[in-house]
Amino acid sequence: MFDGVDLHALASAVQTPCYAYSATAIRQRIAGLQAAFKGLDHRICYAVKANSNLAILQLMAQHDVGADIVSAGELHRSLRAGIPAERIVFSGVGKTAEEVDAALTAGVWRFNVESHDELHVLQQRAAMHGVCARAAVRINPDVDAQTHAKISTGKAENKFGVSIDEARRWFDEAAGMSHVRLDGLHAHIGSQILSLDPFRRALRRVEDFRRELVDSGHVIGSIDIGGGLGVAYRPGLDRPIPVQDYAALVRETFADFRGTVVLEPGRYLVGEAGVLLTRVVRVKEGEGRHFLVLDAAMNDLLRPSLYDAWHDIVPLHEGRETVRYDVVGPVCETGDTFARDRALPRCRAGDLLMITGAGAYGASMSSTYNSRPLAAEVLLDDGRYAVVRRRQTLAEMMAGEQLPQAWNET
Ligand code: PLP
Repeated sequence: MFDGVDLHALASAVQTPCYAYSATAIRQRIAGLQAAFKGLDHRICYAVKANSNLAILQLMAQHDVGADIVSAGELHRSLRAGIPAERIVFSGVGKTAEEVDAALTAGVWRFNVESHDELHVLQQRAAMHGVCARAAVRINPDVDAQTHAKISTGKAENKFGVSIDEARRWFDEAAGMSHVRLDGLHAHIGSQILSLDPFRRALRRVEDFRRELVDSGHVIGSIDIGGGLGVAYRPGLDRPIPVQDYAALVRETFADFRGTVVLEPGRYLVGEAGVLLTRVVRVKEGEGRHFLVLDAAMNDLLRPSLYDAWHDIVPLHEGRETVRYDVVGPVCETGDTFARDRALPRCRAGDLLMITGAGAYGASMSSTYNSRPLAAEVLLDDGRYAVVRRRQTLAEMMAGEQLPQAWNET
């Protein structure tokens, strides 16, 4: 049972592979975070990239959670799901002029600006639209988030944000900008962070810089502390930071700050609230190895291939002896491996398994590689379920493709 729904019955009704998300678990995470920050002027802007299904975004909207977006597509989804523009922050290193235009037209709350060039694009586009864009500078605090290299974003060598020295120059320059109000600071140092230390060091740098700016006469109205809170992929081994401790650190660090603290959690809100349901297609005996070939693959859940990420694999049957399996998908890549040498009760073709911790960076990172249609997504809520993305059909998968009709010359 997951959120009161029988997963065997669900898999028979919806077919596999399919993502199942618990609305109850997501609500609990939202409520826990809101309670931890109660009394502090704050806004939670959910990082849409973690799971951008409209139903998940609608759940956020229903609980006054805004959005942290990184593309015009995420803007469109967020607005469509009912998240008001004034609760949207726009991050990302490569916002195009067209995306800036779309965000200005929608009236997003603020832009997290990541380069000097972007600051000028913002000024130019805002002037064209006759509006004043609110902006924060994304600082790269040069802190090691002690996480996987591919999800670490706050070190000087990463592409994200700018140094404090550069940000200092921006504030002096932006004072003379007619259509940009630069009055915010932003720092997101990475994802799946399980220790408070990197947050402590990064936030301290941000606060020291804020004080320096205020002392030189600048006004800082918001501090965006990014996302990054880790979750327990390996129950009992991964020890996520208690949100109360995180909130206490934020309160203590910014005790003198009279403005809005913005949070951009993604994984924390949805990661543990989702599972990927999959069936065994085949049990294959290799050279000294037992392979379990699933109907889910790296195109459905990329994290193990991309980050060597651990996900628990839970068979929904019991009472068989333990076998050590290499759990793989059917895609033609050796990297299409969910787990190696994993001890599981003996499996047979047709058995149902769930891959846990799949609510974040699962469906949103999926592709149709090997021409495998996108999996279905289902929202569960206290004994009920609703399909929130039906399985893609083959025709939908090829929609937009066409054989050459007319050849153009440039
Ligand atoms: N904010 C920004 C700017 C990000 O780039 C990300 C993730 O890449 C997040 C927030 C969300 O991170 P997480 O899912 O670890 O909370």
